[in-house]
Amino acid sequence: MKVRTYLSRAASIVLLLTGTGASLYCTASVQADPSAPRYVFYFIGDGMGLAQASAAEVYLSAIKGTIDFEKLNLSRLPVQSIMTTFSQSNFITCSSASGTALATGHKTSNGTVSMDSEHKTDYKSIATRALENKMKVGIITSVSLDHATPAVFYAHEYRRSAYYEIGLSLANSGFHFFGGGGFLRNEGEKAGDIRVVDAAARKGYRVVNTVRDFQALKPGVDKVVAINPVLTGGESLPYAIDDKGDGISLAQFTSKAIELLYGRQGFFIMVEGGKIDWACHANDAAAVVKEVLAFDEAIGVAMEFYKKHPDETLIVVMADHETGGMSLGMDGMDEKRAYGLLQYQKCSISAFTGKITDYKEKGLDSLLTFEDILDTVQYYYGLGNADLPLNEVEMIYLNEAYNQTLGHPGEITAGVQNMYGEDDPLAVTCTRILNRKAGIGWTTSNHTALPVPVRAIGNGQEMFMGYLDNTNIPIKVMQKMGWIR
Ligand SMILES: [Zn+2]
Repeated sequence: MKVRTYLSRAASIVLLLTGTGASLYCTASVQADPSAPRYVFYFIGDGMGLAQASAAEVYLSAIKGTIDFEKLNLSRLPVQSIMTTFSQSNFITCSSASGTALATGHKTSNGTVSMDSEHKTDYKSIATRALENKMKVGIITSVSLDHATPAVFYAHEYRRSAYYEIGLSLANSGFHFFGGGGFLRNEGEKAGDIRVVDAAARKGYRVVNTVRDFQALKPGVDKVVAINPVLTGGESLPYAIDDKGDGISLAQFTSKAIELLYGRQGFFIMVEGGKIDWACHANDAAAVVKEVLAFDEAIGVAMEFYKKHPDETLIVVMADHETGGMSLGMDGMDEKRAYGLLQYQKCSISAFTGKITDYKEKGLDSLLTFEDILDTVQYYYGLGNADLPLNEVEMIYLNEAYNQTLGHPGEITAGVQNMYGEDDPLAVTCTRILNRKAGIGWTTSNHTALPVPVRAIGNGQEMFMGYLDNTNIPIKVMQKMGWIR
């Protein structure tokens, strides 16, 4: 039995029995250490392993025609370490188990939100401790506010899909700022269940969902739920590659949270780049690159804040796990033009799937010939242009995919689904062909067990050197803050 001891200046100590062992955990809050950082940023790139960040860097260099890795903000942080991500139940974690580790310092089973694997004990998150210690708390994500990664900071559920209950926990959290997507289950299942947004309003949250109301938010507002006016599948922000600039970006949410939460009390702000993971599940490299760049822009906002408050700020950038088994290098790649070729893709695989679905709904599927579709493919993916000539085999793949979706209108069979996954066969085939030419390899449409990078700058940065585990991160920060020992 493993025993972990967290002692603090506070007297109250409780013994927690879990599935794997016992923990001594201080339950009372303590005064923050005066030398501790006042402003803590927690950046979590969901699914963002080394390859995802590196893909964005080689892409930026390649489109300039240089052989280099153009450094992102996250690569400029002085501490660059490695972290394992396994959960209590699996080598390959899920976002709720890994999020629980990053939020609370405890391993749990896949699917669990900030509870022990037996679902008997709630684990307190670093964000809740920050609130108890009178800091302001902000939670920002590019996916829905009730999704696994944001949820682990304020909710405790035995299943990550309990979206309505998670939403109610958000309303009851007392945190000061929520920004990002919407709610996957705003309504309860029983008649008379309060809507999540109404529950939040009843608890004093100002709920805004227009750019104008968002921009009008000024310091002094007590509690805010800011939902992006433009939402796509899963109540999420649009993929950065599809973004028309008519909503609120992750960087703008981050900037607003800083503006509203800044003050002597200090703040804890968590920012999740949630759709890096989704783009990796779809093996959509161009979308991954744009998601990483949007996430890195938000890190840039925190870096600007750091420059003004270097002694008082700590920024930690990490990932919950790697997704896709992504690699820079692929059989059949165009070595001369690799990576830069991704610039020809104009929309995400999911947006292209949406376009094909539109064609079908408008009854155009039987009218569109393969030649018509080749023009569309060239427009959205560049496939067939001077830089991306299609060979005979690729034409066969495209023709087969065309036959599966537009050429043969009707239901997509299980066999076809197995071959192409959830997205449209033509969208999948175009993305696969472009990824291969651009030199991006994938081994899975799921998560992997690969350790991921941890980056840090600021007051306490040295704590993150070495080969770490995800549970170490919040424990180190909470120790630095003087909340646990
Ligand atoms: Zn995932």
